[in-house]
Amino acid sequence: MIARDPASALRPGDTIGILGSGQLGRMIALAAAELGLRTHVYAPDSGPAFDVCAQHTLGSYDDETALAAFLDAVAVVTYEFENVPAPTAAFIAARKPVRPGPSALAITQDRLSEKTFLNDLGIPTAPFLQVDDAGGLARAVGELGRPSILKTRRFGYDGKGQTMIREGADLAAAFSSLGGQASILEGLVRFRSEVSVVGARGLDGQFAAFDVCENEHENHILSRTQVPARLSPATAREAIDMTARIAAALDYVGVITVEMFLVEDDQACAIRERLVVNEIAPRVHNSGHWTTDGAVTSQFAQHVRAICGWPLGSTRRHGSIDMRNLIGAEALTWCDLLAEPGACLHLYGKHEARPGRKMGHVTRVFPEPRDPSQEL
Ligand code: AMP
Repeated sequence: MIARDPASALRPGDTIGILGSGQLGRMIALAAAELGLRTHVYAPDSGPAFDVCAQHTLGSYDDETALAAFLDAVAVVTYEFENVPAPTAAFIAARKPVRPGPSALAITQDRLSEKTFLNDLGIPTAPFLQVDDAGGLARAVGELGRPSILKTRRFGYDGKGQTMIREGADLAAAFSSLGGQASILEGLVRFRSEVSVVGARGLDGQFAAFDVCENEHENHILSRTQVPARLSPATAREAIDMTARIAAALDYVGVITVEMFLVEDDQACAIRERLVVNEIAPRVHNSGHWTTDGAVTSQFAQHVRAICGWPLGSTRRHGSIDMRNLIGAEALTWCDLLAEPGACLHLYGKHEARPGRKMGHVTRVFPEPRDPSQEL
């Protein structure tokens, strides 16, 4: 089966519209080109995706004239970041298919609605409380205790828009340090590791996930992903099952990423693993970059297949994986990495290696003993 409604499936030669010009848009555009599709990138700033697409438009997300011209030129619209303004998503959805759809954006743009949605599905998150002012923060801290984490409901990424509430912290100062915005307070999760599931749901409801990734951060920015993650097969299955349930509940089309904490409870001398979902990213994700070199289908190709209404590809891994981000000056090692056998280097074409800026990544794939159950 190709799609619920074959008329909504794209054909090679058609054009995908991408909102956002960063490296994720760039890698989606490259994967689309390999499948015979064209891309048109729309963004308010020029970025790495502009270098590799067939067409681009420099326009603001509220410029309806520029958006309308862009929409005339594309068959479907997707995006590389979750903060697409709701009015933009609604304007586009009234004219062209947007995949993933605007309701997935609306839920995942707001940490309060996201965590409420997850708990309603029976999926565990950190305990959280809504915080609208400094008084609300004091009440929430009274309930959840310290240390806890104050996070803005919107526009948080890579640790931005959050602050730890420790013993002795001045709560009014903490609330105003985040701009006095609508926020949530989260209880601190004492996790063993951070993992993510990168999965995809097709237009026909088919779901496929890559193996669970284990992620390390430095200064709140992803630094390393290893696959397979160190967790039991049962917990890995549960992580993938949770992701499939989330995607189905959102009637999702495209690649979705669910970031989770792996917690170990020590129960009567036995260790029990437990998953706590931290965040849903309605898009391709940095922890899935390894799939370009380390899996039969990359997350980018998978996203393109899904939003085109095409069958999903195999998520089988080629070996055990070590992916490292090249942040800021780390990218200056590019020449050494090129000389290293087995290092697959990806540079995003950003000119200035500013501190904290994601400049590229390098993936190393190590052969694993053959597992007959994993054969295609
Ligand atoms: P976020 O912006 O929600 O993705 O959080 C960024 C990072 O902060 C996560 O990757 C964790 O390392 C840490 N973090 C966020 N929320 C919690 C929590 N409730 N408990 C413990 N660590 C957290």
